[in-house]
Amino acid sequence: MSIEQNIISVRCAIASAARKCGRCPEEITLVGVSKTFGASSVKQAIKAGLCDIAENRIDEAEEKFPLFPGVKKHFIGRLQGNKVSRIVAVSDMIQSVDSLKTAQRISDYAIAVEKRMPVLVQILTDGKKQFGIIPSELEAFLREASRMDGIRIQGLMTIGPDFANPEDSRMLFKQMKSLYNSSMAFKILKAEFRYLSMGMSGDYAIAIEEGANMVRVGTAIFGER
Ligand SMILES: *Cc1c(COP(=O)(O)O)cnc(C)c1O
Repeated sequence: MSIEQNIISVRCAIASAARKCGRCPEEITLVGVSKTFGASSVKQAIKAGLCDIAENRIDEAEEKFPLFPGVKKHFIGRLQGNKVSRIVAVSDMIQSVDSLKTAQRISDYAIAVEKRMPVLVQILTDGKKQFGIIPSELEAFLREASRMDGIRIQGLMTIGPDFANPEDSRMLFKQMKSLYNSSMAFKILKAEFRYLSMGMSGDYAIAIEEGANMVRVGTAIFGER
Protein backbone atom coordinates (compact mmCIF):
# COMPACT_ATOMS: atom_id res chain seq x y z
CA MET A 1 0.00 0.00 0.00
CA SER A 2 1.08 3.56 -0.57
CA ILE A 3 1.95 5.95 2.23
CA GLU A 4 -1.17 7.91 1.38
CA GLN A 5 -3.38 4.82 1.70
CA ASN A 6 -1.64 3.90 4.95
CA ILE A 7 -2.39 7.31 6.41
CA ILE A 8 -6.02 7.03 5.41
CA SER A 9 -6.37 3.67 7.10
CA VAL A 10 -4.55 4.81 10.26
CA ARG A 11 -6.83 7.86 10.44
CA CYS A 12 -9.88 5.60 10.08
CA ALA A 13 -8.67 3.37 12.88
CA ILE A 14 -8.00 6.44 15.07
CA ALA A 15 -11.51 7.72 14.39
CA SER A 16 -13.16 4.44 15.23
CA ALA A 17 -11.14 4.01 18.43
CA ALA A 18 -12.08 7.56 19.44
CA ARG A 19 -15.77 7.06 18.74
CA LYS A 20 -15.79 3.78 20.59
CA CYS A 21 -15.08 5.69 23.79
CA GLY A 22 -17.14 8.77 23.01
CA ARG A 23 -14.27 11.03 22.00
CA CYS A 24 -13.74 13.29 19.04
CA PRO A 25 -11.25 12.01 16.42
CA GLU A 26 -10.00 15.59 15.99
CA GLU A 27 -8.65 15.69 19.51
CA ILE A 28 -6.10 12.99 18.69
CA THR A 29 -2.80 14.04 17.14
CA LEU A 30 -1.21 11.58 14.74
CA VAL A 31 2.58 11.84 14.80
CA GLY A 32 4.27 10.03 11.91
CA VAL A 33 7.58 8.47 12.93
CA SER A 34 9.79 8.70 9.85
CA LYS A 35 13.02 7.26 11.31
CA THR A 36 15.11 5.36 8.75
CA PHE A 37 12.89 6.59 5.87
CA GLY A 38 14.10 9.19 3.41
CA ALA A 39 12.86 12.70 2.78
CA SER A 40 10.79 11.59 -0.21
CA SER A 41 8.68 9.33 2.02
CA VAL A 42 8.18 12.16 4.49
CA LYS A 43 7.16 14.44 1.65
CA GLN A 44 4.52 11.96 0.49
CA ALA A 45 3.15 11.69 4.03
CA ILE A 46 2.89 15.45 4.39
CA LYS A 47 1.19 15.66 1.03
CA ALA A 48 -1.32 13.13 2.33
CA GLY A 49 -2.11 15.44 5.22
CA LEU A 50 0.32 14.48 7.97
CA CYS A 51 1.03 17.56 10.16
CA ASP A 52 3.40 16.08 12.76
CA ILE A 53 6.62 14.14 12.16
CA ALA A 54 9.08 12.55 14.58
CA GLU A 55 12.66 11.32 14.62
CA ASN A 56 14.62 9.49 17.29
CA ARG A 57 18.17 10.27 16.16
CA ILE A 58 19.72 13.68 15.97
CA ASP A 59 21.49 13.10 12.65
CA GLU A 60 18.25 12.18 10.92
CA ALA A 61 16.40 15.03 12.60
CA GLU A 62 18.97 17.55 11.40
CA GLU A 63 18.83 16.12 7.91
CA LYS A 64 15.04 15.97 7.47
CA PHE A 65 13.40 18.50 9.79
CA PRO A 66 14.63 21.65 8.03
CA LEU A 67 13.21 20.39 4.72
CA PHE A 68 9.64 20.63 6.00
CA PRO A 69 8.66 24.03 7.29
CA GLY A 70 5.10 24.21 8.52
CA VAL A 71 4.88 20.76 10.08
CA LYS A 72 5.46 20.17 13.76
CA LYS A 73 8.69 18.30 14.49
CA HIS A 74 8.97 16.00 17.48
CA PHE A 75 12.12 14.51 18.90
CA ILE A 76 11.38 11.13 20.51
CA GLY A 77 14.81 9.56 21.05
CA ARG A 78 17.23 9.22 23.91
CA LEU A 79 18.78 12.58 24.78
CA GLN A 80 22.54 12.58 25.06
CA GLY A 81 23.94 15.54 26.93
CA ASN A 82 26.33 16.78 24.29
CA LYS A 83 23.64 16.74 21.58
CA VAL A 84 20.85 18.49 23.42
CA SER A 85 21.62 21.90 21.90
CA ARG A 86 21.32 20.49 18.38
CA ILE A 87 18.00 18.86 19.24
CA VAL A 88 16.65 22.11 20.68
CA ALA A 89 17.71 23.92 17.51
CA VAL A 90 15.71 21.75 15.08
CA SER A 91 12.70 20.50 17.08
CA ASP A 92 9.32 21.95 18.01
CA MET A 93 8.71 19.47 20.80
CA ILE A 94 10.95 17.09 22.75
CA GLN A 95 8.97 14.09 24.00
CA SER A 96 11.74 12.17 25.70
CA VAL A 97 12.80 14.18 28.75
CA ASP A 98 13.93 11.55 31.21
CA SER A 99 15.85 13.35 33.96
CA LEU A 100 16.14 16.69 35.72
CA LYS A 101 19.63 17.07 34.35
CA THR A 102 18.37 16.78 30.77
CA ALA A 103 15.44 19.09 31.47
CA GLN A 104 17.87 21.68 32.82
CA ARG A 105 20.11 21.33 29.76
CA ILE A 106 17.19 21.80 27.39
CA SER A 107 16.04 24.81 29.38
CA ASP A 108 19.48 26.42 29.36
CA TYR A 109 19.95 26.00 25.60
CA ALA A 110 16.44 27.15 24.88
CA ILE A 111 16.96 30.32 26.90
CA ALA A 112 20.21 30.95 25.04
CA VAL A 113 18.36 30.92 21.71
CA GLU A 114 15.35 32.72 23.14
CA LYS A 115 13.00 29.75 22.89
CA ARG A 116 10.74 28.10 25.41
CA MET A 117 10.89 24.47 24.42
CA PRO A 118 7.70 22.40 24.65
CA VAL A 119 8.52 19.06 26.30
CA LEU A 120 6.82 15.88 27.40
CA VAL A 121 8.07 13.86 30.34
CA GLN A 122 8.91 10.29 29.41
CA ILE A 123 7.57 7.81 31.94
CA LEU A 124 9.32 4.49 32.44
CA THR A 125 6.86 1.67 31.88
CA ASP A 126 9.18 -0.89 30.34
CA GLY A 127 11.97 -1.23 32.83
CA LYS A 128 13.85 -3.75 30.74
CA LYS A 129 14.41 -1.75 27.59
CA GLN A 130 13.49 1.85 28.13
CA PHE A 131 14.31 4.88 30.20
CA GLY A 132 12.30 7.62 31.86
CA ILE A 133 10.95 8.93 35.13
CA ILE A 134 9.39 6.34 37.41
CA PRO A 135 5.78 7.16 38.33
CA SER A 136 6.44 7.54 42.06
CA GLU A 137 9.03 10.24 41.31
CA LEU A 138 6.94 12.21 38.85
CA GLU A 139 5.51 14.73 41.29
CA ALA A 140 8.96 15.65 42.62
CA PHE A 141 10.27 15.86 39.06
CA LEU A 142 7.45 18.18 37.99
CA ARG A 143 7.96 20.36 41.03
CA GLU A 144 11.59 20.98 40.08
CA ALA A 145 11.22 21.09 36.31
CA SER A 146 8.30 23.51 36.41
CA ARG A 147 10.70 26.13 37.76
CA MET A 148 12.87 25.99 34.63
CA ASP A 149 12.15 28.99 32.43
CA GLY A 150 13.30 27.53 29.11
CA ILE A 151 10.86 24.61 28.98
CA ARG A 152 7.10 24.28 28.81
CA ILE A 153 5.90 21.00 30.27
CA GLN A 154 3.05 19.93 28.04
CA GLY A 155 2.36 16.35 29.03
CA LEU A 156 3.55 12.77 29.40
CA MET A 157 4.89 10.18 27.00
CA THR A 158 5.69 6.51 27.32
CA ILE A 159 7.03 3.63 25.25
CA GLY A 160 5.45 0.46 26.59
CA PRO A 161 6.77 -3.07 26.22
CA ASP A 162 6.42 -4.55 22.77
CA PHE A 163 3.84 -7.25 23.56
CA ALA A 164 2.93 -9.84 20.94
CA ASN A 165 -0.70 -9.26 21.91
CA PRO A 166 -1.49 -5.52 22.01
CA GLU A 167 -4.29 -6.15 24.53
CA ASP A 168 -1.50 -6.79 27.05
CA SER A 169 -0.70 -3.05 26.94
CA ARG A 170 -4.16 -1.97 28.03
CA MET A 171 -3.50 -2.07 31.77
CA LEU A 172 -0.38 -0.02 31.38
CA PHE A 173 -2.17 2.59 29.27
CA LYS A 174 -4.84 2.81 31.98
CA GLN A 175 -2.14 3.44 34.57
CA MET A 176 -0.60 6.14 32.38
CA LYS A 177 -3.97 7.85 32.03
CA SER A 178 -4.45 7.92 35.77
CA LEU A 179 -0.92 9.28 36.24
CA TYR A 180 -1.72 11.95 33.64
CA ASN A 181 -4.96 12.86 35.43
CA SER A 182 -3.26 13.11 38.78
CA SER A 183 -0.48 15.28 37.28
CA MET A 184 -3.12 17.64 35.90
CA ALA A 185 -4.31 18.12 39.44
CA PHE A 186 -0.91 19.46 40.57
CA LYS A 187 -1.20 23.20 40.91
CA ILE A 188 2.38 23.62 39.72
CA LEU A 189 1.40 22.80 36.13
CA LYS A 190 -0.16 25.23 33.72
CA ALA A 191 -3.09 24.74 31.38
CA GLU A 192 -0.72 23.87 28.56
CA PHE A 193 -0.21 20.44 30.17
CA ARG A 194 -2.47 18.58 27.76
CA TYR A 195 -0.77 15.75 25.87
CA LEU A 196 -0.72 12.07 26.66
CA SER A 197 1.56 10.52 24.04
CA MET A 198 1.27 6.72 23.95
CA GLY A 199 0.55 4.02 21.41
CA MET A 200 2.58 2.91 18.38
CA SER A 201 1.74 0.92 15.23
CA GLY A 202 0.79 -2.24 17.10
CA ASP A 203 -1.34 -0.74 19.84
CA TYR A 204 -2.39 2.84 19.07
CA ALA A 205 -6.10 2.00 18.92
CA ILE A 206 -5.98 0.52 22.42
CA ALA A 207 -3.96 3.50 23.66
CA ILE A 208 -6.67 5.86 22.35
CA GLU A 209 -9.41 3.81 23.98
CA GLU A 210 -7.55 4.26 27.26
CA GLY A 211 -7.03 7.99 26.91
CA ALA A 212 -4.09 8.81 24.60
CA ASN A 213 -4.50 12.05 22.66
CA MET A 214 -1.23 11.73 20.78
CA VAL A 215 -0.05 8.54 19.04
CA ARG A 216 3.33 7.92 17.42
CA VAL A 217 3.01 5.71 14.37
CA GLY A 218 5.93 4.61 12.20
CA THR A 219 5.58 1.19 10.57
CA ALA A 220 1.84 1.46 9.84
CA ILE A 221 2.48 4.62 7.80
CA PHE A 222 5.92 4.21 6.27
CA GLY A 223 6.31 0.42 6.21
CA GLU A 224 8.65 -2.08 7.86
CA ARG A 225 12.10 -0.85 8.85
C1 LIG B 1 10.01 3.96 16.43
C2 LIG B 1 9.19 4.64 17.47
C3 LIG B 1 7.79 4.71 17.36
C4 LIG B 1 7.00 4.10 16.23
O1 LIG B 1 7.08 2.72 16.23
P1 LIG B 1 6.21 1.83 15.21
O2 LIG B 1 6.02 0.56 15.91
O3 LIG B 1 7.01 1.70 13.97
O4 LIG B 1 4.93 2.55 14.97
C5 LIG B 1 7.11 5.39 18.36
N1 LIG B 1 7.74 5.95 19.40
C6 LIG B 1 9.09 5.90 19.54
C7 LIG B 1 9.73 6.56 20.69
C8 LIG B 1 9.85 5.25 18.57
O5 LIG B 1 11.19 5.22 18.71
